[in-house]
Amino acid sequence: MKAWQENIRKVVPYTPGEQPNKPGMIKLNTNENPYPPSPLVARALQEMDDDSLRLYPDPTAASLTGAIAKRYGVSQDQVFVGVGSDDVLAISFLTFFNSEKPIFFPDITYSFYPVWAELYRIPYETKALREDFSIDPKDYYAENGGVVFPNPNAPTSRYESLDLIEDILCHNQDVIVIVDEAYIDFAGESALSLLDKYENLLIVQTFSKSRSMAGMRIGYAIGSPQLIRAMNDVKYSFNSYTMNRTSLAAGSAAIEDEDYFRECVGRIKKTRDEAEKKFARLGFSYPEPGANFIFVTHPAIHAKDLFTALREANIYVRYFDKPRINEYLRVTIGTDEQMNRLFDFLESYIREHRGE
Ligand code: PMP
Repeated sequence: MKAWQENIRKVVPYTPGEQPNKPGMIKLNTNENPYPPSPLVARALQEMDDDSLRLYPDPTAASLTGAIAKRYGVSQDQVFVGVGSDDVLAISFLTFFNSEKPIFFPDITYSFYPVWAELYRIPYETKALREDFSIDPKDYYAENGGVVFPNPNAPTSRYESLDLIEDILCHNQDVIVIVDEAYIDFAGESALSLLDKYENLLIVQTFSKSRSMAGMRIGYAIGSPQLIRAMNDVKYSFNSYTMNRTSLAAGSAAIEDEDYFRECVGRIKKTRDEAEKKFARLGFSYPEPGANFIFVTHPAIHAKDLFTALREANIYVRYFDKPRINEYLRVTIGTDEQMNRLFDFLESYIREHRGE
């Protein structure tokens, strides 16, 4: 090995879901929203002029943090925005997880967490979820350097109650607790109501799922002004202009269209309810879904085989070849029509499998 090679930072990167682009494909593999963003977004984009590209954007992203603050009834200095919640989470790891003690997160969770921990050399310990993929709050009572988990969890889709989150917060008042609420709009109550009580709580959300804007890359964190200030200090030490003018305009427009947002989320939840029944009828089981995806397993069919067969039929879902979850498939909720095609395929696959 050459001397300079020794000094290269070596990381095992996160593997994002496949982004195929085949005619007629059904893409249920990366938890995107099957519906377009609010029509107000298209209008905002049309209204942009040449200066939008020529000039630097506002480094404070005030138009967007202001719109988010108004929507959630918090003050503007409680909001941080970034290039997708991945960017917001990466900055929060860098800002808040600086202890010698390990940070804690579940063993089955968003697979980016260990990648950031390795990248920033943050010690970490994973805490095994129970058999039913629920979190045991007692696992988080021990001394640690910080806590992070998604609610609902990914890829299980399981939603934990606010009581459980408060239990974890109660036992972790000396560290930052990050609740990654990428999928919260499809689930129950957000932990936002706990912000008044816990100044060490940081909530991270995204425009990628419930607001149909994965391609635009907008995420945000809401927390106490002190936490947000610390994140901004790190951001300005890195790249001041993270949010481009297009994102600022499109994001502000999207957050203002509450009616569209509610309708879109409602539709996905309805399709999810129907999908649950159909999966159950075919013999699949799954943790009760709280997100815009279902995590399914079948007693008689290997998940990997089904994943491959689906792929050959131009239907994409996500498979994780990892301990404890290698007999599961994560299926994003699509339109009714897409789900019908999925179930038509599953019915005939299972019939063939039974030798009927
Ligand atoms: N958190 C969780 C739990 C996720 O599943 C995802 C989506 N991959 C993200 C954060 C990041 O989403 P985005 O960067 O698109 O906001």
